[in-house]
Amino acid sequence: MNLLALPAFADNYIWMIHNGAEALVVDPGDAAPVSDALKRYGLKLTAILVTHHHGDHVGGLSALQRNDLPVYGPGAEHIAGVTHAVADGDTVSWNGLRFGVHDVSGHTRGHIAYFAPEGLGDTDPTPLAFVGDTLFSGGCGRVFEGTMDQMHRALNRIAQWPASTRLCAAHEYTLSNLRFAQAVEPDNAALARHVAHCESLRAAGLPTLPTTLATELAINPFLRCTAPAVQSAALAHDAPDTAPASVFGALRLWKNTF
Ligand SMILES: [Zn+2]
Repeated sequence: MNLLALPAFADNYIWMIHNGAEALVVDPGDAAPVSDALKRYGLKLTAILVTHHHGDHVGGLSALQRNDLPVYGPGAEHIAGVTHAVADGDTVSWNGLRFGVHDVSGHTRGHIAYFAPEGLGDTDPTPLAFVGDTLFSGGCGRVFEGTMDQMHRALNRIAQWPASTRLCAAHEYTLSNLRFAQAVEPDNAALARHVAHCESLRAAGLPTLPTTLATELAINPFLRCTAPAVQSAALAHDAPDTAPASVFGALRLWKNTF
C-alpha cells in the first residue's frame, strides 16, 4: 500500500492510497490530478471518501463518477455524487483497510473524518486519518457552519486518537499557521524545531503533511488550550477566562484576523 499527496489547486492535497492496482482517493476537488495519477501508476479508482461538501473537496466527483464506484460521504450534508452516506460510528472497508467514520463537525455542519486504527495494514500499521479541513498542521479549519464549541469538541476528539496517528489534512497551510502558532507561544522550543523542519521541506518542494498527532499536541495552539502560555495569550486576546473552550474561541477569532 502506498500513500500519496496529489497537489491540487493552489494549496490542496488530494490523498490517494493505492496497492499497485486499485486506488482510493479522498476529497477529489479536481479530477485532473487524480486521472493523471491513475494513468501514471496504471491504477483503477475503486473508492472515494469525502469529508465535507466544499467545492475544493467535491468538485471532481462528477468527472470521476462510474456506476461501480462507491463514493462515501457525510449523510448530514447533501453532496451530489455521494452513493454511500455514512455517519459517526460507521466503518468503510477497502482492500483490507478499515476506516472508522468520526463526526468532527464545526468547519461545516456535517464534516466527518476517516480514522484507520491499523493504518495501511501490513505495509505500515501506524494509525492514519483523513481529517479534511478540521485540523491542519499548526492550525485548524475556520468555523463556517458549526459553533466554536462544536469545533473545539471535534479537535478534542482527534486528540484522543493514538499519538502516533498520521494526520492527512487537505491543505498546505502549515507555514502560515506556524507564524500564528509562534505569536501565541513564542517560547515553545518544539514549535521552533517544527518551523525549521517544515521550512526545509517546503524549500525542497515537499509537503509538510502528513503530520502526526504527537507533533500537533506539542506545537498546535488549538490543541494546547490547557497550556499556561496559550491560556495567557488567549486572555490577552479577549478570552473571558481560561476554560479550554474559551481559550479555543479566543484563539480562533484572533487567527481569523491574524
Ligand atoms: Zn472546507
